[in-house]
Amino acid sequence: MDNLARDLPGAKGADADEAALVARLERFIDNKAQLASEHPLRYLFWESTLRCNLACRHCGSDCLRDNSTRDRELAPDAVKRQLTAIADRYDPRSITFAIIGGEPLMRHDIEEVGAFAAGLGYSWGITTNAMLLDADRLASVKAAGLSTISVSLDGLEAEHDSLRQHPGAFRRVSDALARLVADPFTRAFDVICCVSTLNIDRLAPFVDHLARLGVPQVRFTPVFSRGRAGRQSGLMLSGDQYRQLLAFVAESRQSRRDIVVTLSEEGYWGPNWECRVRDAMHYCGSGTVIASILHDGGVIGCPSVSRRFTEGNIKDADFLTLWDAGFGRYRADRRATAPERCGSCDHWDLCEGGGFHLFDPEDPGSAHCGLNKIGESGVCHD
Ligand code: SF4
Ligand code: SF4
Repeated sequence: MDNLARDLPGAKGADADEAALVARLERFIDNKAQLASEHPLRYLFWESTLRCNLACRHCGSDCLRDNSTRDRELAPDAVKRQLTAIADRYDPRSITFAIIGGEPLMRHDIEEVGAFAAGLGYSWGITTNAMLLDADRLASVKAAGLSTISVSLDGLEAEHDSLRQHPGAFRRVSDALARLVADPFTRAFDVICCVSTLNIDRLAPFVDHLARLGVPQVRFTPVFSRGRAGRQSGLMLSGDQYRQLLAFVAESRQSRRDIVVTLSEEGYWGPNWECRVRDAMHYCGSGTVIASILHDGGVIGCPSVSRRFTEGNIKDADFLTLWDAGFGRYRADRRATAPERCGSCDHWDLCEGGGFHLFDPEDPGSAHCGLNKIGESGVCHD
């Protein structure tokens, strides 16, 4: 998703010339409108399973350690049919097919679907906790043409194992990272780190560890209040800690040459930070360029949004029928779905509520406003 925002003309490289900056931002806003109208699919997620081999303290998903959802999981052929139809409409070389979970490596047929997708021309990738990514499994996904991989690692040993509630997890993941570094066959490879109260003060030695391993990029994402990571978990960052994270990422991006440090696109942090913490402005492509097929066949925008925003099910209608006829809430004025307070906000055109995953259909009064959290606004002259 970060790549997508980076590609948006006008989204990058704001300079001190106010007029040029305004022109760039206007082009950025126009491009968002064009994408909403044309909705060219660029990322298709497949939530292959809700099963997971861990029960992380910060997990915001619906994943489960038991097998109770296994019967609802889609068979490979059901996904392949949709991939074939989509490839007839769009150029699959412009679409990333991302297999997620739960933990996708819990299923042994993701390679079958991934290889099928690669055969049609898609690039396919996984997001994994890497606990099952031993040498044999790595060889298996490589043989199936895996082209992108994001590995979750949430700090150094004490923090990661505590957050994952699994002693030894850090070493397993570090071993998997070393294998990926030793055999750099993927087109893109990064580590995703969830930042919470547990690791906020130890980000620098963590980045040093990754750089020593040879990991090319780390993407930080602040813990989000959902699921097990509720407000009572003690993991949520304070306003000062959010600012600490933003400052750390901005400074690391300036000073480090051995590893790329970036902030996920999830959320808008205002003009003081947007130009400094990523390559591009915040952009939420959910439902305009991003769609997901859920474990039970449900079709939704980004997999992080509330399941109440499900558009239909591929058991009842083809994905493309739903993609064409549904998704209005993402493509029309998002104010109709965004938290109420966003409607009159001066930052609306750039922020649009900070991302659809922040919208709570059961509580439209709630807002997870980045600017509010850090108590800032201003003008970016980077
Ligand atoms: S109030 Fe809403 S639109 Fe304004 S900055 Fe906050 S999240 Fe974004
Ligand atoms: S819903 Fe959130 S995580 Fe998904 S694309 Fe939008 S901003 Fe990113």
